[in-house]
Amino acid sequence: MSTLEIDRVRKSYSSLAVLKEVSISINTGDFLVLLGPSGCGKSTLLNMIAGLETITGGEIRIAGKVVNDLSPKDRDIAMVFQSYALYPTMTVRQNIEFGMKIRGVSPGEREAAVKAAADMLQITHLLDRKPSQLSGGQRQRVAMGRAIVRQPKLFLFDEPLSNLDAKLRVDMRTEIKRLHARLGTTIVYVTHDQIEAMTLATRVAVMKDGVVQHLDEPQAVYDRPANVYVARFVGSPA
Ligand code: ADP
Ligand code: MG
Repeated sequence: MSTLEIDRVRKSYSSLAVLKEVSISINTGDFLVLLGPSGCGKSTLLNMIAGLETITGGEIRIAGKVVNDLSPKDRDIAMVFQSYALYPTMTVRQNIEFGMKIRGVSPGEREAAVKAAADMLQITHLLDRKPSQLSGGQRQRVAMGRAIVRQPKLFLFDEPLSNLDAKLRVDMRTEIKRLHARLGTTIVYVTHDQIEAMTLATRVAVMKDGVVQHLDEPQAVYDRPANVYVARFVGSPA
C-alpha cells in the first residue's frame, strides 16, 4: 500500500520554479531519503508534504487521501527539524507530552506514551531534566520522542542531524535506523549527505534543480546511476 504519493507536484515562487513536476510514490514502511545539494528544493517538497507550504500544481496523497488543502494537523504526520526547538522552561517529560495534552489525551495515556517513547529512545533517566541540561544528541532524541508519541502515518525529517558533531551524527544515524525498524513506520528524510542517505534509505530520490533525477533503492542508484550527475553525486565508481 502507498502511504505517500507525490503526483506531478510543482512549486513556484512568483516566476521562480523551485519544483518541476515531481512524482514519487512510496509504500508503507519505506524510508525515503530526498538527497541533493543545497537549494535543490528538498525542504520545499518536505514542507509541502507537511502542509507548511502551498502546492502550486499536482497532488499529494497520504494513505490515499488528497491532502493539498488540509492543514498540517489534519495530515497525520509528525516532523523533526534541524532546529528542534524544545520549550526551555518545560521538562523533557512535559515537552514530549505537550502536544498530547493540547489534543486532550488523558493523563494515563500520556504517561504510557511518554514511557514507551522514552524507553525506545533511552532517555527515561532524563525525563525530569530541562532542555538546557541536555547534550545536543539528547535534545535530538527528545525531539524524536515528541514526534513518536503522535503515532503519525508519516514521519518527516529535515536534516535532523546536521547540527550535531560527526561522531554523534553516526550514532544518531544508527538510532534512527533502529527506530524505523522498531516502529515499522514510513519516513521521508531530507539530507545533502550521501553517506547518510545510503545508510538510511530503503528508497532514495536524488534531486537537482527541482527535478528528481533518480528514484530507486540505494544500491541500484549507486550501481546503475541514471545519469552522470547522479553518478558524481553519489560517488559511483566510473
Ligand atoms: P534545499 O532544502 O534543497 O536546500 P529549499 O527547498 O530550501 O532547498 O529551496 C529551494 C529553492 O527555493 C532555493 O533556490 C530557495 O532559494 C528557494 N526558496 C525557498 N523558499 C523560498 C521562498 N519562501 N521564497 C522564494 N524562494 C524560496
Ligand atoms: Mg533544506
